[in-house]
Amino acid sequence: MNSNIFEKANQLIKNCTSAQLGVIDEAGYPSVSTISLIKPENLFEIYSSTGLCCNKAIRISKNSKASICICIEGNNITLVGDAKVLTDQESKSRFWLDWFIEHYEGGETDPNYVVIKFTTKRVSLWIDNESAEFTIDELLKVQSHCGALCDCCPYKESHGCPGCLALNGKPFWGECPVAICCINKGFKHCGECPDVPCEMLTEFSCGNHEHSDNPKGSRISVCKAWAGK
Ligand code: SF4
Ligand code: SF4
Repeated sequence: MNSNIFEKANQLIKNCTSAQLGVIDEAGYPSVSTISLIKPENLFEIYSSTGLCCNKAIRISKNSKASICICIEGNNITLVGDAKVLTDQESKSRFWLDWFIEHYEGGETDPNYVVIKFTTKRVSLWIDNESAEFTIDELLKVQSHCGALCDCCPYKESHGCPGCLALNGKPFWGECPVAICCINKGFKHCGECPDVPCEMLTEFSCGNHEHSDNPKGSRISVCKAWAGK
């Protein structure tokens, strides 16, 4: 798992309008149905809507365990986590889409209209012929100053590298200006910096070097996730 595949997953999700949602039915079996996604932004949280009296809402209320599968152009994203039915008006208004009127005559205040919030705990990815499995807790563990996911770096074993944070800005290839800048400013990682992404981090992440991110900006996204931004 590296920051690139995390960002690829986020980019795929952003362009996705539907997915498969699996919930647990009354007999304890998984029950899968197609859902429309509401403004998906990343793999941490997914939103959809349903009717308050529909099977999905009833089943989620009894058992929050759920899974979402997104399949796009041969790529696959499977998320495992917990679903919740949101009935508060603030959430209903925030996630209302104009075309919902076809299903809920009363509009965003229709008592039958509710929002499903899915919170991811575990992720399985197959993207561009690369696979990755990780938990959200593992992803959110700060592993570097710049947003690189050092724990899964192939150089860790081959070069006996203890990881970015233990190196105090002096990895095996020299002195890292991003790490030094972060340390000097008293930040654990760039996500804590008000200037993120500064010119230097942008060059590291989005430049055209051998070790730049692909897609560009991957480690900036990880930094922001670490900072909860
Ligand atoms: S580029 Fe610098 S800050 Fe990023 S992981 Fe490597 S040493 Fe750490
Ligand atoms: S975002 Fe840029 S300025 Fe801020 S700590 Fe990181 S490298 Fe330094």
